[in-house]
Amino acid sequence: MKVTEHIKEAKGKTLFSFELIPPQKGRSIQELYDNIDPLMEFKPPFIDVTTSREEYIYIDRDGLLDKKLTRMRPGSVGICASITHKYDVDTIPHVLCGGFTKEETEYLLVDCHYLGIENVMALRGDAMKEEKYFKPTNGGHCYASDLVEQIVNMNNGQFLHEVVETDNKSDFCIGVAGYPEKHMEAPSMDADIRRLKQKVDAGADYVVTQMFFDNKRYFNFVENARKAGVTVPIIPGIKPLAVKRHLQLLPQVFKLDMPDALVKEVEKCKTNTDARQVGVEFAIEQSKELMAAGVPVLHYYSMGKSSNIQAIAKEVF
Ligand code: FAD
Repeated sequence: MKVTEHIKEAKGKTLFSFELIPPQKGRSIQELYDNIDPLMEFKPPFIDVTTSREEYIYIDRDGLLDKKLTRMRPGSVGICASITHKYDVDTIPHVLCGGFTKEETEYLLVDCHYLGIENVMALRGDAMKEEKYFKPTNGGHCYASDLVEQIVNMNNGQFLHEVVETDNKSDFCIGVAGYPEKHMEAPSMDADIRRLKQKVDAGADYVVTQMFFDNKRYFNFVENARKAGVTVPIIPGIKPLAVKRHLQLLPQVFKLDMPDALVKEVEKCKTNTDARQVGVEFAIEQSKELMAAGVPVLHYYSMGKSSNIQAIAKEVF
């Protein structure tokens, strides 16, 4: 079922969902299942699976380092299929511009369609680790809006080899990213919201936000997006702070601000276990306020370990 249908069917009740990162190559998928199991009691209607970009690794060959381009994690489509098969839940693969040609994206989308995957999240992806700026892949897309266009074209039966197939068309529901504190490369908040509107005009059906810790940022973002004509659901993304180091790491990587009350509480913590507990308590309050404001879904970034999300969901759902 589509995300938009799940939201409609919930009739105003806030749904619970979460996002997972595939295990690294060579590791067991059981690790992933062990993180999903404790969260299934909260009946997520859908689960997102992230996609990682290719990266350079260095292999030591008798003292000489060999630079090799590889993907350290498997693609999200197979993982989505296995999760759906095991738990009978809708899954959403993240589809990236970076690292994929349009042809490769088409193959991936055809696989999704045959597997019965009805939702995809269309993202540009970040720059590669060694690059300062995002460089489009040869034969790939520059922006998420271009990727949305490709998916919409496929939904209309238009393939890259310029053949239109009207039988057995896909009908993907398309999610895109939104940034309550502005995307780091956008020159202004208004410019970023215009780009968001462009993605929705291209055919996106819903938005999931980047993590934020100050609900006011989300509420302002939704208000400004609505003023700009974005009418689709805007799902808040919540990341519970989990270790003391997140105080530096999350603002550095995601260019976000943390409320001072949270900062002070985490600074008082002697151990990461204490910091994790503060993160859980903060996320419970944050989630309750968002739920009271009537958000359609609370979407949690699990980043591998789900015990804190379980603790939050127990209090909120
Ligand atoms: P875009 O919407 O293309 O925007 C990128 C930048 O370009 C913005 O600054 C925008 O304002 C600007 N822009 C857009 N269109 C134009 C235009 N036509 N001309 C000029 N400027 C333009 N990354 C991963 O690698 N894997 C994942 O699985 C993943 N999942 C994510 C899930 C969510 C919910 C979110 C919020 C982010 C996720 N990301 C993921 C990170 C995302 O890939 C990065 O934030 C990336 O830098 C931007 O992606 P985007 O889709 O928002 O890009």
